[in-house]
Amino acid sequence: MEPASDSNLDVPLKGTEKALQLPLFPVPTGPKKVEETKEIIPPLWKNVSEREWNDWRWQLRHRITTYEQLKEILELTSEEIEGIKHSKGRLALAVTPYFASLMDPFNPNCPIRRQAIPRIEEIHLSKNEMVDPLGEDKHSPVPGLVHRYPDRVLLLVTDQCAVYCRYCTRRRLVGSHERSITQGNFEEVLRYLKSHRKVRDVLLSGGDPLLLENERLEEILSRLRALPHIELLRIGTRVPVTLPQRITGGLVRMLKKYHPLMISIHFTHPKEITDAVKRACNELADGGIPLGSQTVLLKSINDKPYIMKKLVQELLKIRVRPYYIYQCDLAMGTEHFRTSVATGIQIIEKLRGHTTGYAVPTYVVDAPGGGGKIPLQPDYVVSRGKGKIALRNYEGKIFEYSEPNIIEFKKTRSIGEEKADPKKVMA
Ligand code: SF4
Repeated sequence: MEPASDSNLDVPLKGTEKALQLPLFPVPTGPKKVEETKEIIPPLWKNVSEREWNDWRWQLRHRITTYEQLKEILELTSEEIEGIKHSKGRLALAVTPYFASLMDPFNPNCPIRRQAIPRIEEIHLSKNEMVDPLGEDKHSPVPGLVHRYPDRVLLLVTDQCAVYCRYCTRRRLVGSHERSITQGNFEEVLRYLKSHRKVRDVLLSGGDPLLLENERLEEILSRLRALPHIELLRIGTRVPVTLPQRITGGLVRMLKKYHPLMISIHFTHPKEITDAVKRACNELADGGIPLGSQTVLLKSINDKPYIMKKLVQELLKIRVRPYYIYQCDLAMGTEHFRTSVATGIQIIEKLRGHTTGYAVPTYVVDAPGGGGKIPLQPDYVVSRGKGKIALRNYEGKIFEYSEPNIIEFKKTRSIGEEKADPKKVMA
């Protein structure tokens, strides 16, 4: 066995640690402070009582869906006015009064505003964009069900959302009719699941499952829970962010009956974490529901490391574990939201080692066409050699790690096995 030595490495090392100026990503310039957001109720709703404002049904009934309503609360730019005009037949426009109250009425670059107000760029289609970027339709054995991985399925229970995100991957489906999965479809889904016993995990999504009334949602959860092979139920939602009033004691008491149940919440920007959102997440966490976040990486909204760092740290404070950062999918009319993949890797570079490990999400590209999530991260391996690997840490310092001596290890193990051979012991 050739002894491991520095010369086995592609990069010679003189010690266990040495500072090396690796081409780390440049430190971004620009402002480092993210302003806090407070709900500022626009004059349009000044006479609304607190009880009404905190009633999720009132919020849904009073969503803003037209140009006329929007211009009452925002000073719209020509890009936005054109975008609103052309949004018909593309992706519905709807904003809850609560989410609208977080928008800066005078700044079109307000990150809350940019997510929900259509802009003219949406009509520009790039040749790489797709109607169904994740190939969900071709993996749908039953209407409303996507079965892409062997042991888990995605169940689309409604096409309605409280607010329609302009970068939505499912823009081909959401907001078109604002209806939930029909009873007939659901019976078909249950029949399919009964005959596919390898499925152990069902993710409810849509649209937004938390827009269903408690009774309807409970019917779905209870019937799924009654299938013995379904171990885990999950809900993907943006409602705690766009309609936090929906998180009521009654909803949490109902959800608690179906543990193990996990919720992934779609957060985008630290400005979304208001007192109302903190209350909603606390209520869910107190119900024993593990909470994770999912964040789409969006150009000029959250594509700076200091913004993501603020977001993930604020999330931990409200007991939400940062789970995924998604590279923006190739959905139609969303090119203006997309960043380079290098931007996402740079953000992880600036998080890993620079903040609590729990705060570092996994950055993924959901493979176009339906290949599933592919994790990406900075390359920390500097070189590999026989029995040694050179790694860099978050500061760019190099460390050498000696790998186990495989041949020696095998020899030792076979000697140990020989000694413990039960036949020999018996003889
Ligand atoms: S909440 Fe989700 S499903 Fe609804 S519009 Fe936003 S991204 Fe699409």
